[in-house]
Amino acid sequence: MKITGDTKIVGILGDPVSHSLSPLMQNAAFKAMGLNICYVPLHVRPEELGAAVNGLRAMDFIGANVTIPHKIEVTRYLDKLDTDAAIIGAVNTIVNIEGELSGHNTDGSGFIRALEDEVVLEYSSETAVIMGAGGAARSVGVALARKGIRGITILNRSKNRAQEFCLLFAENFPELAVSYKTFDDDYGEVIRNSKILINATPIGMKGYLKGPSGVVDKITKDHVVCDLVYLGSEETPLQIAANKKEATSMGGIGMLLYQGAEAINLWTGKKPPIKIMRHAIEIE
Ligand code: NAP
Repeated sequence: MKITGDTKIVGILGDPVSHSLSPLMQNAAFKAMGLNICYVPLHVRPEELGAAVNGLRAMDFIGANVTIPHKIEVTRYLDKLDTDAAIIGAVNTIVNIEGELSGHNTDGSGFIRALEDEVVLEYSSETAVIMGAGGAARSVGVALARKGIRGITILNRSKNRAQEFCLLFAENFPELAVSYKTFDDDYGEVIRNSKILINATPIGMKGYLKGPSGVVDKITKDHVVCDLVYLGSEETPLQIAANKKEATSMGGIGMLLYQGAEAINLWTGKKPPIKIMRHAIEIE
């Protein structure tokens, strides 16, 4: 990459940020697209988030990605949010147009693109079980609701966050059947009756499936099992378990890839080369 006086800057705000695969993936895309844009990791501690966001304006960044733990808090410092980011209450992409910062959330659309690489779905006749009720669950839930999915059941550790999810979705998507169970409830039937099972918790991140073992027992070959967790080029424990049941499965790499691609599209109006981005992170 040749840095010149005209190079435009975009970054990722996170704490920590050193583990992020985004700089590799996004810079590979910019290079292949022939764009004079450089993507940098920005280690921002929570108490400095406001200053860092103002810095994006001051230094004329074209935008930024936002990762853990800033996705929710960053919304306070932006000038506007798009409709879905406002519903989700979290932002993973900032666009700077002449000092006006808008917040977007490409996690959900990234998830849908990854899902549609694996399977063709008639959303209006399907239901999904989403494990987790945090930011990722909301992003994926909104994207599935926009696709017209028939119903979503949240399966979560704590009852209060699951209830909050249901209230939010009932308010914003009145056509959607939304319900919840906790891991202490009997959730076998909802898994059996749903086509799609999504893990939007960190269970499996350390390479082992320490979580509700009952979930795996209910998987059949007819399920589409989506793990948002990614472990480099390795399959996640949930994927491995789903494959043993001959289910359709996917890990979180596809979502990571496409949420990044959607962010590039927001910054540049152009479609990045997915194969090159995938290659950049798969060789890691
Ligand atoms: P979050 O907002 O902190 O929410 C985490 C959720 O997981 C909560 O509902 C929490 O339940 C539940 N949870 C946490 N630890 C658990 C455990 N040990 N057992 C059972 N449930 C547990 O996090 P998030 O931003 O939604 O992220 C969730 C996962 O998605 C992370 O692993 C993240 O890496 C992944 N993700 C992947 C991508 C991608 O591009 N592939 C993008 C975004 C996120 P309580 O409500 O009970 O606390």
